[in-house]
Amino acid sequence: VPADRTPGLEQAALRVPEPVKPRAARYKPMIVIDPGHGGTDPGAISVSGMYEKVITLQVARVLRDQLVATGRYRAALTREGDTFVRLRDRVARAREKGADLFVSLHADSLGQSNISGMSVYSLSDKASDREAEMLAARENRADALGAIDLAVESDQVATILIDLAQRDTLNQSRRFANLLVDEMGKQVRLLPRPHRSAGFAVLTAPDIPSVLLELGYLSNPRDAKLLTQSEHQIRLARSIVRGIDGFFTASPGLSRS
Ligand code: ZN
Repeated sequence: VPADRTPGLEQAALRVPEPVKPRAARYKPMIVIDPGHGGTDPGAISVSGMYEKVITLQVARVLRDQLVATGRYRAALTREGDTFVRLRDRVARAREKGADLFVSLHADSLGQSNISGMSVYSLSDKASDREAEMLAARENRADALGAIDLAVESDQVATILIDLAQRDTLNQSRRFANLLVDEMGKQVRLLPRPHRSAGFAVLTAPDIPSVLLELGYLSNPRDAKLLTQSEHQIRLARSIVRGIDGFFTASPGLSRS
């Protein structure tokens, strides 16, 4: 009986017996998708003037719909519209929603227009390479618009990495990142060494495996064009769903109940 109605005799008489629904035998993991940037922070801007914040939200919505459509997952976004959300609030929202997995979506931009391809990032206090380190610095700067002390954010990254409880989460994040690379590499062009790591503030939930995807380069004309095409967005989302399937198939006991 819906909470807003009191069962009366009339209603009881009129009520058609509901078909027996299968009981929720299986726990549905909650996937929290984080569309990068938003509001006053446009993120990168493509060669054709498209904003990263728009692309990340579009792909996030496609991904959410695909996840829900499988019937195996619940899914939520850290922002529903074009709003500014601080990095720590994105993490907090994921925790509030009881996320089992956190996927942050981005699309980078570089000075060189010839570089293209997708890459997957997991958290580390030691960046895998200089490019990853600079990328993390760029992405962490999103909060500068919200007047956040970046030194404090970096401290949190360092502190949280010492925590042993974080270690298992980190291992799970790395495993998930590798699965994503495998699945996404079948569908889209990847950067060389596509799984990289650095100190991303948005990946610091100590108990939620988290990755950040750079879906391509908005500074590359080919990537920029693809990222705005719905067929490509659908293809990207589908390969992310396969990566998520792989993650939960390999570790069914991981999800909370
Ligand atoms: Zn970004």
